[in-house]
Amino acid sequence: MAIPMWLLDIDGVINALADEPPASVWPADQWITTTARSAGDLEWPLQAARPVLDFLREVHRSGRAEIRWHTGWQHYAGNVSAALDLPAWPILDCPEYASAPLGVPLTEAAEPWWKLPAAQRVADSGRALLWTDDDALRQGAAIEGALIIAPDEETGLTPSQLRLIDTWLNARGIAI
Ligand SMILES: [Mg+2]
Repeated sequence: MAIPMWLLDIDGVINALADEPPASVWPADQWITTTARSAGDLEWPLQAARPVLDFLREVHRSGRAEIRWHTGWQHYAGNVSAALDLPAWPILDCPEYASAPLGVPLTEAAEPWWKLPAAQRVADSGRALLWTDDDALRQGAAIEGALIIAPDEETGLTPSQLRLIDTWLNARGIAI
């Protein structure tokens, strides 16, 4: 059995979009604020909770899941990895990104969500799929058998969501 694949978004998942680090979710001293270069040479602000980053590093190190970026950052995600001291995960192949209606408000987008077909292909390949994306709920993303978690974009992943992921990964663990 192949190990699960975890599709990981950045903004609203590991980068909490609240104006200030949301200390109601993780203690105030657990937040890292930095920046990473994105498209157009923009230094984009990042605020990430250490326990979330530690959890991701542990999942990667132990091989409990294979992590892929699935994010509008595309190849700039490598800059986020560097800024937050995360492994340089590959970006999920997603040709639909090129034709995505960027800048169109989500509710008015005529096209299906560009992230969905690539995620569906992972599930169709028979891999157990975990997908964390703050837009998943709003976009009505549903994939049979997958665990899809849509954090509040203001906070990113919460302690209870990490526990849920931990339990889900445990249930799909392979003996090594
Ligand atoms: Mg997002």
